Order: sequence, then structure tokens, then C-alpha cells
Amino acid sequence: MGLRFHPARGALDLSEKDGGPAPEQLTESVEEILADSERLVHTYHDPAPGSMLRIALAPSTQAAVTERLMVETARLAERLDVRLHTHLAESLGEEEYCRESFGRRPVEQFEHVGWGSDRAWVAHFIFTEPRERERLGRWGTAVAHCPGSTMMLGAGAASLPALRDAGVTVGLGCDGSASTDHASLWLEARAALTAARERGGAGAATARDILRAATVDAAACLGREDGLGSLAPGAPADVVVWDLDEFSFTGAHTDPVEAWLRCGPVRPRHTLVQGRPLVEDGALTLPHARTREMLTAHAHHARRIQGLAEGT
Ligand SMILES: [Zn+2]
Repeated sequence: MGLRFHPARGALDLSEKDGGPAPEQLTESVEEILADSERLVHTYHDPAPGSMLRIALAPSTQAAVTERLMVETARLAERLDVRLHTHLAESLGEEEYCRESFGRRPVEQFEHVGWGSDRAWVAHFIFTEPRERERLGRWGTAVAHCPGSTMMLGAGAASLPALRDAGVTVGLGCDGSASTDHASLWLEARAALTAARERGGAGAATARDILRAATVDAAACLGREDGLGSLAPGAPADVVVWDLDEFSFTGAHTDPVEAWLRCGPVRPRHTLVQGRPLVEDGALTLPHARTREMLTAHAHHARRIQGLAEGT
């Protein structure tokens, strides 16, 4: 089983010619990656409460980078006091690669390179055994659950209830645009609910379980201790307001949170980020000309990156 390569998913130092999955023009040396990581942290990282700009160090996956990059990145994160992120137990190809290259399962290798700690959070964590989930729970390593993305890629989804039972903090994520297409946290939330129930039956998860993963536990993945993800005095004012008087909610009066996740999809009526309105009465507050400008710039950069990934 081969490894899939998605562009723009983290630092890479192992190219196709050295047995890695990435085209050579997308890889850098360990030294270049570490020096640039340090530069970015010094230039941009803002650890203050309520900060909207924090840098985490994120090699793509241990199946696509050298062991040395994993070890050195963990050391650098410790020294700079920033968080660590990577993909873990994402595919059977990764499992096979870790066994063949290191003689260990992915979680054993993760521990071996010094990543088993509450400084790290990992994406996906699908192909796991009970004792491996317990180890993550003990280390305090959180998981970013992106079920809509991983099911779209045919890899299935992690079991959110099984992870929580093992003491693992599970936050919800949309994955990157290289491997998912919608970037909608609501769609991921709905996918998390149906994936949990498909495995464990109708009682396996409630909309409130998923809401927790989408908010406070997602903030915990990022190591936030400033109240992010909760509605409380002093917490960052990130608020989304949905209108339950719409047609799709007719008759759903019993539980607004269940209704929110089961009767949608819904568009927000208001969205505030750090107290600033981004959506007001269903419309973006950005001027139309500015959004056109951003979309044009994005299309240009996306085409350039895709061209690089195809080796053109
Ligand atoms: Zn991913």
C-alpha cells in the first residue's frame, strides 16, 4: 500500500529520490527547515492570551521525513516553547512504512523520537490499538479528528468515543485544503456525529459531545489557556449565531444543539472573531471588491502550488 502525498501539509525533508513521497522541489534540508522554523517563531509567534498568530512546528508525517527532523524539531519546540504537530496513524501505508524503516509501529516511533508529550497534538490517529490510545491519553497528546476529510480519502475515521474513553482530548478539524475540499467545521461536526454512530450505535455520541470537540477541546489541542472555545467572561469573543427560526428547523424544538447539527446544513446569521463581526445578518462584512481581490490572489497561488506538486 503506497503513501499518499498531499502538498502543503507540513515540513518535508525526504524526497522521492531518497524513498520519500514528496517531489524534490517541495523538500528542504533539516538545517533549512529548523532555521526557517526558528525565524518564523521569532518573527511572528505571539503567545499572549487571545493571540490570533501562534506558530507550531509541524513536520508532515514521520513516514515522509527523516528521523533526525522529528528529533530536532521536538528539541527546537521545547527550546522555543511552541507546540508540535504532525499526522499520526493516518494510513495503513504509514504503518507499513514505520515497520519496514524503523522496526516500530507509528506510535512507538512517535515516542522514540521524543514526541510523546502534551506539547504535541496529532491529526487523524485512525489505525490504532487500545493500548496506543491509552498511551496518547497518558502523555496528554491530543488528537485533531477530521472525519469528513479522512472518509473522503477512503481511510475511514478515528473513533471519537474510543479515544475519549482512553483519556485522549479530541478536537475537531477541517484538515487542510490539500486533502479536504469544503473547510466547513459544521460539515466536519456532522460527519463526526454520523461516523461515531455508524461504529458505535445511536447512543455512541450526541451533538453536545461533538460541540465540545469543535470548541473547547479543539482549543485544548492548540494548548490555549485563555478561554478560547468557551462562552465566558474574559474569553476571546469568537461567537457564531445560527437562526433556529429557519424552515429547516421547523418542528425541532426539543434540543437546540441536536437541532443545530441534525437539521442543517445552516449558514450562520452572525459570526464574530475576537469581537469583530465577520458575518452580519448572513452577509460578509468585507467589501465585495476586497473579497474578489482575495479570491483572485488565492486562485493564483493555488495554481502555482499545484504546479509545483505536479513537478512542472
Ligand atoms: Zn491532514
